[in-house]
Parts: sequence; C-alpha cells; structure tokens
Amino acid sequence: MILFEQVSKVYPGGQQALKKVDFHLKQGEMAFLTGHSGAGKSTLLKLITVIERASTGRVAINGFDVAKLTPKQIPYLRRNIGMIFQDHNLLMEKTVFDNVALPLIIEGYSIGEIRKRVAGALDMVGLFGKERHQPVMLSGGEQQRVGIARAIVNKPALLLADEPTGNLDPKLSMDIMQLFEVLNDSGTSVLIATHDLGLVARMKYRTLTLKQGQLFELRRTIAQEESV
Ligand code: ADP
Ligand code: ADP
Repeated sequence: MILFEQVSKVYPGGQQALKKVDFHLKQGEMAFLTGHSGAGKSTLLKLITVIERASTGRVAINGFDVAKLTPKQIPYLRRNIGMIFQDHNLLMEKTVFDNVALPLIIEGYSIGEIRKRVAGALDMVGLFGKERHQPVMLSGGEQQRVGIARAIVNKPALLLADEPTGNLDPKLSMDIMQLFEVLNDSGTSVLIATHDLGLVARMKYRTLTLKQGQLFELRRTIAQEESV
C-alpha cells in the first residue's frame, strides 16, 4: 500500500525533514506514526499524498512509483486516500451533508448515489440523522467524526490521519481510535500520525517513530506485549 525506500526530504531552505526513511505499510494494515513536533511526521504524510516530493529515494503508493505519475494522474491517486486533520477542515457554514458530500460532488456522482453514500458514511461514524446540522452545532468529537465521514465517503483504500485527536479529551480520543479500528477491520489501511503516546500504548498496533527525520520501529518483546 505504502512503500518508502531510502527516502530523504530536504526543503528548499535546506531543512532536512526526512533522512533515508524505509518502511512498508501493507494493504489492510493499521499503524501509528509518532515523534516530537518537527520530527517529520507531516512531511512523511505529504509525500504519500504527493503534496511534497522526495528529494532522493522512492515512494510507491498502491504499486505506483509517485515520481513517475503525471500531474493528471495525481488526483486519481488522492481519490484512493482519505485524509483526516486535527482541525478537521470542515466548512462551518455548510451542513454536515454538504461537508461529507463534497468529495463525491467533485467526482460527479449522481445525487441519488451521493445521498446513499453520505448516509452510509454518517452511519459508520455514529452521526446518522445529523445531515441537516451545521458543524458549529456539534461537539468537538462529533465535528471530528464529520471529518472522518468525509474522508471515508469515497471508500478509499488508505486513511491518513494527522493528529486526529489533538483537540479531544482522552475519552473522545479513544472513541475516535476505536472508530479507526472498525474501519481497519473493514479492510482499509490506516496510518495515524500522533504525539499522544498514552493512546498509542493502549492500542496494540505497529508503531513507527520519527526522530529528527530518521524512522525507527520498536519491536515489542513478549514481556512488553504482556505489560501493555
Ligand atoms: P512534524 O509534522 O513531525 O511536526 P514536519 O514534517 O512538519 O514535522 O517538519 C519537519 C521539519 O521540516 C521541521 O524542521 C520543519 O520546520 C521543516 N519543514 C516542514 N515543512 C517545511 C517547509 N514547507 N519548508 C521548510 N521547512 C519545512
Ligand atoms: P460534548 O461536551 O460531549 O463534546 P456538547 O455538550 O457540546 O458535547 O454537545 C452535546 C450535544 O448537543 C451534541 O449532540 C450537539 O449536537 C448538541 N449541541 C451542542 N451545542 C449545540 C448548539 N449550539 N445548538 C444545537 N445543538 C447543540
């Protein structure tokens, strides 16, 4: 699903954000990406969505080498990726329905299909019946769920989340993580960038850690597994 081979990223100003990063996230896998602020998490996600490009090394998504994609092919790649942000990037003056429908409207789906898919996505995140609400009428946890519904309404093969629980309390954060688990169980690959180590420790998933642009993967020992 995601393959990084010796990927480095140096920004135009000379800042090195990633150093020879290697990892493979398999189809259907769920993993965390942790690291301090400035460690390179957002950069890594931007290389996956081709908002940024690697300086050296190879990034392949769904079997496609992104360096070989033409500008016209990039939107097709992005359609297969659902993005979730900390501040959920919702249009606050629009309805929940309009927010979730947006990716489908862009793709030109029929209104009947849009209604069906939006209802399905809202049902999945536990917001069925809130179509006519505006995000401002919802709680923080619910707003984040609208963002997740919008990310999954396309049925993407891969979900990327950038600090999805950054503004939520521990209980709501756990609820959102359990929602990711459900989506992963239905076959979606999930990569969650977070600095919430407490949350990561409570979930038994693969954890990739960035330290000043270098990626480390801690292999848990059986003793550690038992203490989690
Ligand atoms: P994180 O998401 O882990 O906080 P980032 O990927 O945002 O880390 O940043 C990694 C490093 O790259 C930081 O030193 C940051 O200042 C730098 N950086 C990020 N984006 C840019 C950019 N567009 N131009 C120059 N430097 C950048
Ligand atoms: P929490 O504190 O649990 O995050 P809130 O107390 O903010 O949630 O909201 C609880 C419920 O009340 C939500 O379902 C939300 O839709 C509704 N709600 C909150 N604020 C408003 C509002 N200004 N107008 C209408 N409904 C609201």
